[in-house]
Amino acid sequence: MDVTRRGWLGLTGTAAVASTVLNTRANAITIRPMLPDPTGFAPAPGIAHLKYNENPLGPPASAIKAMADLARSAWYYADDAEARLAAMIGKRLGVPAAQVVLGHGSSEVITSAALAWGRRGTILMPALQFDEPLLYPMAQGLNYRRVAMAPDLGIDLGALARAAAAPDVAMIYLCNPNNPTGMMLPAADLIAFAKALPPRITLLVDEAYMELANDPAASTMLPLVHNGANVIITRTFSKLFGMAGLRIGYAVASPANAAELKRHRVTISLNAPGLAAAIAAWDDGAFQTESRSAIIAARRVLQAGVAKAGTIALPSQTNFLFVKVADANRFAAAMAQRGILVRGAWGPAWPEWSRVSTGRMADVERYAAALPALVKI
Ligand code: PLP
Repeated sequence: MDVTRRGWLGLTGTAAVASTVLNTRANAITIRPMLPDPTGFAPAPGIAHLKYNENPLGPPASAIKAMADLARSAWYYADDAEARLAAMIGKRLGVPAAQVVLGHGSSEVITSAALAWGRRGTILMPALQFDEPLLYPMAQGLNYRRVAMAPDLGIDLGALARAAAAPDVAMIYLCNPNNPTGMMLPAADLIAFAKALPPRITLLVDEAYMELANDPAASTMLPLVHNGANVIITRTFSKLFGMAGLRIGYAVASPANAAELKRHRVTISLNAPGLAAAIAAWDDGAFQTESRSAIIAARRVLQAGVAKAGTIALPSQTNFLFVKVADANRFAAAMAQRGILVRGAWGPAWPEWSRVSTGRMADVERYAAALPALVKI
């Protein structure tokens, strides 16, 4: 069967509808046209969903076919597929499979890290940074400290280094590129920072958006892992690969750090469709190139809209922009009234910044068109 993306979705819609449609003749099936969102897994029609940094291009057709092919075998636990994906990732990134730790999204691996290292001491992180994977460890009593940002809202490595001098610090968690700013730390600065850390401190660099960066090879901290440094990097299939709902992410770490992460994983958390999709997409270079280009094109439309509206955005190397407005919460509410969903204020310290994701081009254009009227409200 030739399973294209649209065809497979059509099939799913048809199957769902078929079970609810009765026909007077036994064995007859009435096929209705697919509804725009028959499943409830996507926003309602007409909504521009630009608030979660998702990627509308994915999953690639190769991944959708792999999921369809796998479906009948989903009664097995997926250990073999997990080993296969870890080996594939390790091969490309230059580490043995044992140094790749897969998770239910990169969030799970980061949560595991916080649980494991949180037992040893405090976790430091920049104040303006994605922190959702730490919410569960925080609920369990995690000790953590947030460190102030630099004046340009970049991560302040000097301030982090000073905070890291405290004897209780076990780990530093930072996102590079950062979310919500989209900004990238210069690789040389981050390498120097990592090398100067006391050996007892593990540096966790969340590279969820690294494949979207201007120069991923020159920006990643992977070489530090190759050199045996006390550094963990995490990556995800949610962004470049467009598979946020399939929940596959991973860490690359030293053998000892990888083993520690695995000890703190949620038991049997990986799902077979996600693994099948990730295995197919990992080698789908054409899709990855297309995905990167689509994201950069949408980002340019957002940037042009920001300039036209007479405001600014931080320099992003990701699939989102952090845009300066008069009042981010009022702005997000006004955008929502127009069916465009973006982020309000990240916290009380940053009331004027609203994050918008790249998304479907038509949605991004809608945002850019609405921006001039709302940026000063
Ligand atoms: N890390 C960062 C910096 C993110 O922005 C996100 C999601 O937006 C994640 C991790 C979580 O990704 P995943 O879907 O792999 O759990």
